Amino acid sequence: MNEVTMARADALDEVAVAASAGSGDKQGDKRAYENNKLHKRLCRLVGQAIGDFNMIEDGDKVMVCLSGGKDSYALLDILMTLRERAPIGFELVAVNLDQKQPNFPPEVLPAYLDKLGVPYHIENQDTYSIVKRLIPEGKTTCSLCSRLRRGILYRVADELGCNKIALGHHRDDILETFFLNMFFGAKIKGMPAKLVSDDGKHMVIRPLAYVKEADTERYAEVKGFPIIPCDLCGSQENLQRKQIKALMRDWEKKHPGRVENIFSALSTVVPSHLMDRDLFGFTGLTTDGIANPDGDIAFDEEPCSTPSTPSGTIPLQAV
Ligand code: SF4
Repeated sequence: MNEVTMARADALDEVAVAASAGSGDKQGDKRAYENNKLHKRLCRLVGQAIGDFNMIEDGDKVMVCLSGGKDSYALLDILMTLRERAPIGFELVAVNLDQKQPNFPPEVLPAYLDKLGVPYHIENQDTYSIVKRLIPEGKTTCSLCSRLRRGILYRVADELGCNKIALGHHRDDILETFFLNMFFGAKIKGMPAKLVSDDGKHMVIRPLAYVKEADTERYAEVKGFPIIPCDLCGSQENLQRKQIKALMRDWEKKHPGRVENIFSALSTVVPSHLMDRDLFGFTGLTTDGIANPDGDIAFDEEPCSTPSTPSGTIPLQAV
């Protein structure tokens, strides 16, 4: 998605808003303006993540995993918009895995996707019964369930000839995973925006990586997506993740900008100032007698100013 294409798209959006304005309904005009701004922001952030990580290339066939939750609906919707505007050609196929959870409404997604006119595939696999049979009552079922789901989705991607698999995880999912790994797994490890699947055959991408959850929430309301509840399996939400979510919401309220800075920090890593001896050759470090003006600040106070935005990342504060 180059800048010219995005600028042209923005101009088209402005025309659409101008056309919808002037109806005399001030509240309605304001709402239309805000909704249009949200749509533009989502397109810009998704386009930027795709560009920064080279997620989608000419000729790709992208399988978009659609769970029926707000994030995956938003992902499909924005990817469809960007595909119209992109200077490259790529295909999208929406895929839903019906895991046969009790009360899952099987008609909802096909009806929505038929209306949208996007190619899709519904994969019916009763992983719910397998998980119930194998995991004792009261134990958490998510890890087996997601392992089964992953295997099925990789197979389906193969069968559909898709080389990319797009997932609907957003910025807040990435940050929550980062904190979970640090607090409970003693690791500095997040959720990658792009990775090779563990069968080595597919590229898994997360085009919503720069998007805040609050924006997908509002976008789902605006678009009236037919949301399918995510607790049909009866599993409890992960308590630790819930705590991290609450912590981040609290920071957003009390310390505006903190969450954005932490997210920016994920793409501004300084291995020489951490402790990982595999990541930086501390043991083989030698002096070379050459002065480096940006080098040693071992005896200085670390500045606490807001970091400047590194190239390739986006000024999320401005969003
Ligand atoms: S919440 Fe339910 S459907 Fe989701 S991974 Fe856990 S067991 Fe599976």
